[in-house]
Amino acid sequence: MLHQQNLTVNAAGHLAVGGVDAVALAGEYGTPLYVLDEDMVRERMRLYRDVMAQAFPAGSRPYYASKALCCKALCAWAHEEGLGLDAVSAGEIYTALAAGVPAADICFHGNAKTEAELRCAIASGVGLIAADGEEELARIDAVAAALHARPRVLLRVTPGIDPHTFAAVNTGVVDVKFGVPIPTGQALAATRTALGMKHMDLAGFHCHIGSQIFDASPFHLEVDVMLSFLDQVRRELGYTVGVLDLGGGFAVPYTEDEPVPDCEEMLRRTAERLDARCRELDYPAPAVLMEPGRGIVGAAGVTLYTVQNVKSVPGGSTFAAVDGGMGDNPRYALYGARHSAVIADRAGDPADRRVTIAGRCCESGDLVGEDVPLQAPRAGDTLAVLVTGAYNYSMASNYNRVPRPPIVALRGGESRIIVRRETAEDLVRLDV
Ligand SMILES: *Cc1c(COP(=O)(O)O)cnc(C)c1O
Repeated sequence: MLHQQNLTVNAAGHLAVGGVDAVALAGEYGTPLYVLDEDMVRERMRLYRDVMAQAFPAGSRPYYASKALCCKALCAWAHEEGLGLDAVSAGEIYTALAAGVPAADICFHGNAKTEAELRCAIASGVGLIAADGEEELARIDAVAAALHARPRVLLRVTPGIDPHTFAAVNTGVVDVKFGVPIPTGQALAATRTALGMKHMDLAGFHCHIGSQIFDASPFHLEVDVMLSFLDQVRRELGYTVGVLDLGGGFAVPYTEDEPVPDCEEMLRRTAERLDARCRELDYPAPAVLMEPGRGIVGAAGVTLYTVQNVKSVPGGSTFAAVDGGMGDNPRYALYGARHSAVIADRAGDPADRRVTIAGRCCESGDLVGEDVPLQAPRAGDTLAVLVTGAYNYSMASNYNRVPRPPIVALRGGESRIIVRRETAEDLVRLDV
């Protein structure tokens, strides 16, 4: 089984999550069921908060990228633990405000913000807006003028780094839908535009180089490219930034063969690099923001299903069909993402066969995983798919009119519902 401290096998031979029996949870709340280890989520939040406060310049802090898993409870936990919050839609802003997150702690992102969303963000007084290009700067300025507001803006730039080769690339990686490229000179031009706008304050820059980053090297390269850019902006435009947002992308291991990244080490080494570059350039150290999403919630989530049907094709695959699938976890269908899994009823048994976990939807591509090492599955078993805290619930759909599962949070060995199960009534609620 995936090595993770909160996943154990109890005396009954069952999988336990945060000390709570997974088979009992499935019995109590039904399946499919998202289980979230709240203690682990809060621990991760505090780790980012504390290391950033110690290692980075004054004012540095993490912003939880709420798109990874957004509901009122998660927003409230992030706020309680002292994190800011990233939102990428009016819906995420609404959820955060409904959870009691102060607007000043929200950073509003997105590459296609609508005018209505900009009005919502500016009227509610969000602390930062990450502007994605010249046209958006003009729209933010116009909305701010109409609302007699003066938002603080980060300009999202594209440093042109491929985090998976750790190389700075002049083309290709700048040819993406997010941000304004530095290598083409457009970022400098947009900075000039932002500084000329009458109804906003340019607080600094934002960049995000990708996901599933396992060590500090891509962040080092990001710091290098960004500090060179900051230096150029200072020389050519006389502007020195107060805030540098380096984005998210901290990896979590999904399978046994992936390394366990040391997030604290990644943060500390990134801070050292920033410090060294600022000294070299004699640049006043900016407050740093980072935006972990997956790194906070990913490993804290487990999805429980009930095995409905087991089939073997002679000489082919063994299929275990479960009562969920792409509706609650579209990651395999979307990007071929891999997850570890375990038969929760016999978690101590050797995972001595390869099983294709099939979802319930009418699509042959609706799989949770192919050739997953697993104990022999039987109908009625509780199947646990691990590391499903990020980009599962937040990407869920009602395809085939299957109600979305609830989320149960575990804290101090107790469980409670934080998002209730959808009902048939919920499914027709919007039908006219
Ligand atoms: C997706 C995203 C994040 C979070 O990414 P993770 O890989 O979940 O850490 C942070 N910032 C921005 C701008 C993003 O688009």
